[in-house]
Amino acid sequence: MFNKIRNWRVRRIVAQRPIAEPLWRGALQHCAPARRLGASDQATLRVLATLFLHRKSLEPVQGLHLDDADRVLLATHACLPILKLGMDWYDGWHSVIVYPDAFIPRREQMDDAGVVHQTDSAMAGEAWGRGPVILSWTHVLNIGDKPGHNVIIHEMAHKLDMLNGDANGFPPLHRRMDRRVWWRVFSSAWDRLQDDQRNGADLPIDPYALESPAEFFAVASEHFFETPATLRQHLPEVYRQLEQFYRQHPL
Ligand SMILES: [Zn+2]
Repeated sequence: MFNKIRNWRVRRIVAQRPIAEPLWRGALQHCAPARRLGASDQATLRVLATLFLHRKSLEPVQGLHLDDADRVLLATHACLPILKLGMDWYDGWHSVIVYPDAFIPRREQMDDAGVVHQTDSAMAGEAWGRGPVILSWTHVLNIGDKPGHNVIIHEMAHKLDMLNGDANGFPPLHRRMDRRVWWRVFSSAWDRLQDDQRNGADLPIDPYALESPAEFFAVASEHFFETPATLRQHLPEVYRQLEQFYRQHPL
């Protein structure tokens, strides 16, 4: 019964505010992972992007203006990770704040020793536990310039990670997935990449992954969607875990 009501609501939203064909084609043109999807997955992504624009508030700040094409592009990237999970996985938050460029969060953070620091480094994106996602529009427009980088997918992966508490690289796994396998796969990949980095080798994924387990999951997710062949070649077990989690097979 609930499903029926929900489907009716979804159909109504999609019928009332459809994404116009030229806008959708434009979004696909700037979203390589979406272009690689089959027709039926693309249709699902379009529905999810429509719902995303209906449910979330995109809030450009500091004089930035986002037109309809920009909004559709943002929503399309944002919905890739939940293509097979559903919109419910983005429940519990409302806003996407978009800065024109890298931003410096003006706030204090407490470290493990209880010391409060003023953060002062410029950021391309940020995701708060039950709060907004924050993005730099310059970095959104640069998606695709550096292979494997996608700031929107990165922040959305943090959102999924935080569904069961702190961002720790451990999103809520599906019933048939094994937490111990997930942990073993990600920690051995982490150890290997750390060794490679110490030996001065080029890493197959963005070295920012080694900042923390949360960043490892977010960066691996970017590569999973953007450069799946590279991820599968170099970190095949990580690739397989992400296939199971996202329920997608980008290759
Ligand atoms: Zn991050």
